[in-house]
Amino acid sequence: LPVVAVVGRPNVGKSTLVNRILGRRAAVVEDVPGVTRDRVAYETAWAGRAFTLLDTGGWNPDAQGMAARITEQAEMAVATADVVIFVVDSVVGATDADESVVRVLRRSGKPVVLAANKVDGPSGEADAAALWNLGLGEPHAVSALHGRGSGDLLDAVLDALPDAPQEAFDEEEGPRRVALVGRPNVGKSSLLNTLARENRAVVDPVAGTTVDPVDELIVLGDREWWFVDTAGIRRRVREASGAEYYASLRTSAALDRAEVAIVLVDASEPLSEQDLRIISMVVDAGRALVLAYNKWDLLDDERRIMLEREIDRQLKHVSWAPRVNVSALTGRRVDRLVTAMDTALDGWSTRVPTAKLNAFFGDVVAAHPHPVRGGKQPRIMFATQADTRPPRFVLFTTGFLEASYRRFLERRLREEFGFDGTPIELSMRIRE
Ligand code: GDP
Repeated sequence: LPVVAVVGRPNVGKSTLVNRILGRRAAVVEDVPGVTRDRVAYETAWAGRAFTLLDTGGWNPDAQGMAARITEQAEMAVATADVVIFVVDSVVGATDADESVVRVLRRSGKPVVLAANKVDGPSGEADAAALWNLGLGEPHAVSALHGRGSGDLLDAVLDALPDAPQEAFDEEEGPRRVALVGRPNVGKSSLLNTLARENRAVVDPVAGTTVDPVDELIVLGDREWWFVDTAGIRRRVREASGAEYYASLRTSAALDRAEVAIVLVDASEPLSEQDLRIISMVVDAGRALVLAYNKWDLLDDERRIMLEREIDRQLKHVSWAPRVNVSALTGRRVDRLVTAMDTALDGWSTRVPTAKLNAFFGDVVAAHPHPVRGGKQPRIMFATQADTRPPRFVLFTTGFLEASYRRFLERRLREEFGFDGTPIELSMRIRE
């Protein structure tokens, strides 16, 4: 759902406006220091269009460092919202604090709808008109308390919403781009040959140079996959020195252009440093990840048991990645790569709606609060998924969340929402 955030300095009537929009008293909260609401996002609708309404009013209740607090609030709204409703008290007029919010909003380039609130007295219209000065376009005169003008305000909000739902951007048209990576001799070129032979290779696509095609389109399952930099796999440049460095440059260039990476490892040999480094490159590049264990035909029972242990020990940090045991030689389970890539790309593109995410974190944190550190207990005030491909979450917190707690949150996120095959990023915005 698109997100509409209500921002403004304290006491301009944000919560009253939120209540007015929601048509109930759900958002009422006293400005009591230390009181935090666990729900700041609400799902609602206007004129048949559903959206998430974000109330930043109760987000930062302790009254400390007001200027910083207001800027942060605006920053949070900007990070999250598709449209911002900026509420100004038209009786008081624009203050310095309001101006500082205007600067943040303007820098962001997000659409802003200006609400001139408390227009209920005799000089109301004139007061509202004075807010043209803010340079944010037409001030919409409202009285959150009495309900006046809120319908027109919401019409303006709907006009400012992006036409297509956010999800539409995540549906990529055309072939998905795959990087087949791995250290030398794990069988990349063999696997590519097997894929191209048993399936249909559509050669000579886009980024080809005059000398040789850089990429290959291969039909797997019922659609085309765009394997990037297959020339690098096939050409097999073997330099005596610096080969590993060269290979790593090549890998990183391929990852830049890919959405999903198949990291091929040789199952018949112990996992090497270089294998682990390549896996880390994929994670750091934020690409969807599939692990493929090749040369499965060579495995005996002893090695198989070793391998399980090795995976438990060395690949715990990517236990979310789908694993496929293949043999490029025999073609074993090569078709499973497609399912695994689909899964990973799904996870990579998943978006959790803001209201759902905050409800989830509310429950998780209530059941498992962060440990108290130095007499303080950091809390999560608000969470938002800032991006997909890969999923990136921003947590607005009252203190530093230690690594073990962040890992716990990531684990719970994965249990709740999937995210198989994708790295996810959790970052914090801390308000000390
Ligand atoms: P690349 O450097 O990653 O492209 O690896 P290659 O495709 O050149 O393969 C290296 C060696 O491993 C070759 O001798 C292949 O024949 C062999 N190989 C590749 N895949 C398999 C497999 O699934 N099983 C077995 N037994 N050998 C394989």
